[in-house]
Amino acid sequence: MSATIIDGKAISQQIKDELKVKCEALKEKGIEVTLAVILVGSDPASQVYVRNKKRACEYIGYNSLSYELPEDTTMDKLLELIEELNSRSDVDGILVQMPLPPHMDEKKVINAIDPSKDVDGFHPMNVGALMVGDKGFVSCTPAGVIQLLKRGVPDLDISGKECVIIGRSNIVGKPMSLLMLRENATVTVAHSRTKNLPEVCKRADIIIAAVGKAGVITKDHVKPGAVVIDVGINRTDDGKLCGDVKFDEVSEIAGAITPVPGGVGPMTIAMLMNNCYEAAAMHKLGE
Ligand code: NAD
Repeated sequence: MSATIIDGKAISQQIKDELKVKCEALKEKGIEVTLAVILVGSDPASQVYVRNKKRACEYIGYNSLSYELPEDTTMDKLLELIEELNSRSDVDGILVQMPLPPHMDEKKVINAIDPSKDVDGFHPMNVGALMVGDKGFVSCTPAGVIQLLKRGVPDLDISGKECVIIGRSNIVGKPMSLLMLRENATVTVAHSRTKNLPEVCKRADIIIAAVGKAGVITKDHVKPGAVVIDVGINRTDDGKLCGDVKFDEVSEIAGAITPVPGGVGPMTIAMLMNNCYEAAAMHKLGE
């Protein structure tokens, strides 16, 4: 194996430790950081995500408010709760765990969150801010990828590099492309209709795969020495977690690569915690 393994677990720990110090400094000024987490229903994966977010808050020293609502909660009830949290001056961030039950309108729910408390970075105001280069909350997974590149491959100068992002979803691919553009990369967004994907990918110095299909990116997609970030979270037939990239063969030729698990995954929560800090600094320090 020749590639450097980018250790997302260690980098996310580093970010959480930095936030812990910053949180203590806020507390000395009498300022608390508070995240409200709303979970509707009892999806087991969502329950795990919510538990991990609460644990991260506890570790850093944030307050977390938890609202666990039954599956049959009405939209009106949920919107009422969001409205109440929007108006509470102690609450800095509001997170509604997705996916919501089918009878709920996710877009309407996202739009109901005060953009200054939208720590997931999903509100159209925050998406628009990213588009035009204004300050706002950035979707946590793509923000985490930027940190992995900067901290995990310190000698990589993103500026001017060819970056191919595979996937164009609103939560990963699209914001990822804007962030890489902000870092002055030359960005290509590939997707399910892209022709000659291996050829397109092979010109990349940096590949970011966010497809959601196990092993779609093989050594035939990767230029030797390229940096490969695997956002995908899939399960193999025997239930093991794996990414979109065929790790064993790609790590033979890549310059650096993220593993799954232990790559992008842990970064998402770290960046959520970072957004919570930013929200509190904005609300309570006027930054
Ligand atoms: P999505 O299904 O919304 O989007 C997938 C994208 O892949 C689409 O834009 C589609 O055009 C493209 N695509 C599908 N098949 C393709 C193919 N054969 N070739 C090229 N492109 C193809 O998914 P998403 O929400 O963006 O998530 C993508 C993956 O990232 C999933 O595995 C998801 O679980 C994972 N994810 C991980 C984290 C994390 O914290 N690590 C966070 C969010 C998503």
